[in-house]
Amino acid sequence: MSDFVVIEPVFATYVLHNAPVKQIASGFDWVEGPVWFGDAGCLLFSDIPNDRILRWIPGVGLSTFRAPSRFANGHTRDREGRLISCEHGTRRVTRTEHDGSITVIADSFLGKPLNSPNDVVVRSDGTIWFSDPHYGIMSDYEGHRAEQELPCNLYRVDPATGQMDAMVTDANCPNGLVFSPDERRLYMADTGRMYQDDPAHIRVFDCAEDGRLTGGEIFHVIDPGKADGIRVDTDGNLWSSAADGVHCIAPDGRLLGKVLVPERVSNLCFGGNAKQWLFITATTGVYSVVLNRRGVQRP
Ligand code: MG
Repeated sequence: MSDFVVIEPVFATYVLHNAPVKQIASGFDWVEGPVWFGDAGCLLFSDIPNDRILRWIPGVGLSTFRAPSRFANGHTRDREGRLISCEHGTRRVTRTEHDGSITVIADSFLGKPLNSPNDVVVRSDGTIWFSDPHYGIMSDYEGHRAEQELPCNLYRVDPATGQMDAMVTDANCPNGLVFSPDERRLYMADTGRMYQDDPAHIRVFDCAEDGRLTGGEIFHVIDPGKADGIRVDTDGNLWSSAADGVHCIAPDGRLLGKVLVPERVSNLCFGGNAKQWLFITATTGVYSVVLNRRGVQRP
């Protein structure tokens, strides 16, 4: 059990005693945005400072999916299985069509350029939700240095109508986001401006059927580190990145246990045929572990 820390006894049933946390790829500078393609049997992830998206196929290995990637960060798939990407370099959210062409989903709000879209999820109604902190315009490392013109908001776009709304406007630096399995809750990580006293918490909003949000209280404070990427399993447990690995948090906010990873974790996703694989992007490497859980991964 050395790869796991059991805090609440139930967590011992979520992990497999003989399943290791394995490094499956390495040699990167800052990996983020993992997304699993079950139909293609591959994992995509971003190596942001090196301006590329990589593809990992079990039993085959690593190849380049897209380079330059316009400093892409977070990814997800929409209801038709198309890749939705956050791009720091072009300060936009895009959709990659089945024929490979790129459609811009959002690049501005109220006439001003977005900051640097970071992470993205698609609701079952097809609306695309993304966070827009300023990390990608702070330097020329993960994008292009530029002046910030908009607050760090969380947005919703309806690609059918083009309607775009700021859904959370009081965040410090919104980052990872995920809906609960029944979509009645939206969780949002806030990673702050990277100063010591800045937030390291995950907030929870009640989400109405039409998508309207209420609440927004602090759900859980990550320690050590910050919550960057977050995902849920089918029972509604939240799996969050942290400095020492991946933390598993119950729907009532209790820390249940940890998957230990030797590098600072940025993001994670579920994959594999039964969505029982947890893929973890962590600084210079990508890791995987098989869990006795199933993740919610759409489509
Ligand atoms: Mg992120």
